[in-house]
Amino acid sequence: MKRKNVYDLLAESSNRPGLSEAQKRALRKNAINDIIEYFYSMRRYILWLIRLFRPKTESFFFSFLVYGPMKFYLRHTFKLNYQDVLDIHKNEINEVLADHNINLNIDGINDVARWSGINAEFTSWFGSDNRITVLSGTMYFSHLFCRSVEPLLVSIDNGDVHSAFERYFRNMFKRSCIGFLTNNHRKGWSRMFLIPEDFSMLDGMEKFIISHEMGHAFFSQYGITAWPFESISHQRKELISSDEEIGADFFAIHTLCHIYLKHNDKKRLMWGACMFFLVFRLFEEEGLIYIPTNHPSSKDRYHYLMDYIREVDSALYDRYIRYEKGILGFWESVHDTVKQNVFRYKENRQNYLAELSQIETYAKHYLRCSEEGEE
Ligand SMILES: [Zn+2]
Repeated sequence: MKRKNVYDLLAESSNRPGLSEAQKRALRKNAINDIIEYFYSMRRYILWLIRLFRPKTESFFFSFLVYGPMKFYLRHTFKLNYQDVLDIHKNEINEVLADHNINLNIDGINDVARWSGINAEFTSWFGSDNRITVLSGTMYFSHLFCRSVEPLLVSIDNGDVHSAFERYFRNMFKRSCIGFLTNNHRKGWSRMFLIPEDFSMLDGMEKFIISHEMGHAFFSQYGITAWPFESISHQRKELISSDEEIGADFFAIHTLCHIYLKHNDKKRLMWGACMFFLVFRLFEEEGLIYIPTNHPSSKDRYHYLMDYIREVDSALYDRYIRYEKGILGFWESVHDTVKQNVFRYKENRQNYLAELSQIETYAKHYLRCSEEGEE
């Protein structure tokens, strides 16, 4: 009898296209990383037992220890996804693009149920299609970051300095940072009880990430010198054609700006995009994440976006500068603890490398990666 694998589970759990065929290589790699992090952060006693009894990966005892928790993990995590949210974003962004006579050739925006990271990609899954692939962690961590700083921004807007909940949310922000940096999406999972006042920051962050990828789709369809929105300065045009990543960022912030013009009560919509890069800039500056080589640094991207906002709406820009100050203050009070936790986590993880690599081998076998000689 054919044992169900993760792709069958994925296909069962949503209306996404035949994932058993889709993006096999990347998806398996992602799934394996998630499994490893799950065993390290949630099931360390199993690693400890492996260390104590030293069973071989192929042995019955080893599979007895690992099989159940792994199956449990796959069943539960892969059922969760943000596909519905992605579809809503896609439709809203497409409305704006249609106003500019752009009809992008995209077959779907798909959540691939990987939780331990933030990333999206414009790729083909089957060779002839165009898709935007989004890790579930993208939406999940966006949600955590936005919800934990939103009360701060509300109090900045209302001019009051003291909030009864400030300590609580600062703590949530700290947990969210640590969770993201240690690939542990359970870190802030169930501890967030309060509902945000408005969703525009989260909306902006998610829509920015998606429309950045739509920017790549646009440039691949129309060429890097094409530009769909109102005309931009020669200097900016040069900047865009020198680096498609910057082009995609401008495409995305213009898209957000048009959504903002339609719904101008969404004051924090464009801040969502800026806040995303501000947080990443802070992580980069502390050496908590690497400065990317295939994208401009988050610091540069933050500045491009803020420059653009200053040009289109100076009052909004002033408001965002106040937000920036507030978040820097927030970070100032938590960054020592975040750093300590993350470095301690990385150090401790070193002690379990042998056991984790056994789990990796087993997971690869379970997900049938080895049969096709995939890495
Ligand atoms: Zn990009």
